[in-house]
Amino acid sequence: IRPVHIVGGGLAGCEAAWQLARRGVPVVLHEMRPTRGTDAHKTDSLAELVCSNSFRSDDAQNNAVGVLHAEMRRLGSLIMSCADSHQIPAGGALAVDREGFAEAVTAAIAAHPGIAVERGEIAGLPPQDWDSVIVATGPLTSPALAEAIRARADEQALAFFDAIAPIVHFDSIDMDVCWFQSRYDKVGPGGTGADYINCPMDKEQYEAFVAALIASDTVPFREFENTPYFDGCLPIEVMAARGPETLRHGPMKPMGLTNAHNPTVKAYAVVQLRQDNALGTLYNMVGFQTKTRHGEQVKLFRMIPGLEKAEFARLGGLHRNTYLNSPRVLDATLRLKAEPRLRFAGQITGCEGYVESAAMGLMAGLFAAAERRGEAPPLPPSTTAHGALINHITGGHIESVEAGPRSFQPMNINFGLFPPLDTAPTRDAEGNRLRGSQKTVAKKQVLAARALADLDAWAKTHADEPNEAAA
Ligand code: FAD
Repeated sequence: IRPVHIVGGGLAGCEAAWQLARRGVPVVLHEMRPTRGTDAHKTDSLAELVCSNSFRSDDAQNNAVGVLHAEMRRLGSLIMSCADSHQIPAGGALAVDREGFAEAVTAAIAAHPGIAVERGEIAGLPPQDWDSVIVATGPLTSPALAEAIRARADEQALAFFDAIAPIVHFDSIDMDVCWFQSRYDKVGPGGTGADYINCPMDKEQYEAFVAALIASDTVPFREFENTPYFDGCLPIEVMAARGPETLRHGPMKPMGLTNAHNPTVKAYAVVQLRQDNALGTLYNMVGFQTKTRHGEQVKLFRMIPGLEKAEFARLGGLHRNTYLNSPRVLDATLRLKAEPRLRFAGQITGCEGYVESAAMGLMAGLFAAAERRGEAPPLPPSTTAHGALINHITGGHIESVEAGPRSFQPMNINFGLFPPLDTAPTRDAEGNRLRGSQKTVAKKQVLAARALADLDAWAKTHADEPNEAAA
């Protein structure tokens, strides 16, 4: 069997290599360190964790990333196996000894007879005679390769910063306060004239909000990030600091909107939210990209009428990153539509986080292995955490014509990406009626249990390789 070439020996690249090799497909893994470094990596190890040493919650009953952990373990993940064997105490989180973890991954990859590691940068599109390639070069992809990918995919295909506005779970928005309406009832392609959720503010609420925003603490850029403010993506607090009226004439303008609950009173300012996924379970706060600290964002954004009880699928941020506009340029099995021999994995596909990156490496490995063996690539059900994440990356995302191609932003796994339940639980195991937050907890538990049951059924037929323990 001809080898699959993997570019990038990070979380995703190592996981993909492992999944291919354990299915008998030879791998050449190309890692540029130590020949060439990145601005964040410090060692020569494969799968180096560049910042925190946490894989976040390990709770597979209540937390979406915990479900992803559990699914990965069931699929024989190398990254999870090494994380488990280098775990250090961290409450309900899975935190690891970072050196021990990276050394274990490096050793397992080096010891596998089916994997050859070659050190050196792939400084452009991989050679044409590599007929199956997985590009897993991460958020700090070397500039020469990034430029080649951008040129091959298309002008708009690759972003070098993410500018993330907070994303809210629809069912936590108070629709007795907010209403659906597009500005001037404009009907865009695929729209209805009522595509946005609007949160009205009076003068006093607006002024209090702007004051709190300006007073809030922000996360400084890292040295290598420079100051990546660019047109249309200014952090909301930077706009607010330019003058008290700036937001009212920018993302919070009230024009063309009539409060359905109170038509005679004109709002002084309006915060708009736009549907963020095809399922309609998530809405993003339009123009609210921000560098305020996560701890402050929840308090700040709950000042907005209608969002007092908002639950956030993700908070805002602005970081150095490299990621594809995947819903446009990748197919359902993570291949570049313009050049299907190139498959992508990890953070460069537009997921966010160590675990998600490794999970997308796992999927890319399974797909490439099936392809090499002449089988159909096994797509996991969308009810699983892996399926929900792939759906978000490759297609389930809403592309707003108005917002343009940049509306796709990286995302951690969260329950908002899972297809909603046909019927939400209303009673607990003893038959008692559930109230308020109990309903949310119960819903998450049913979504988590459904994901793991569906993953098991799918894995039996599609990913039934023996679970080798990582060396
Ligand atoms: P990486 O793990 O970065 O692996 C990519 C590999 O490709 C690297 O080893 C790199 O050297 C190599 N490479 C790049 N270009 C080439 C080339 N042309 N040829 C050959 N090799 C190449 N996520 C979290 O969950 N928690 C955090 O705390 C966290 N902190 C982060 C901090 C920073 C500064 C950054 C940039 C990201 C952070 N992330 C964090 C996000 C993300 O989850 C990690 O970056 C994660 O490592 C991504 O996995 P990956 O496999 O896609 O890329």
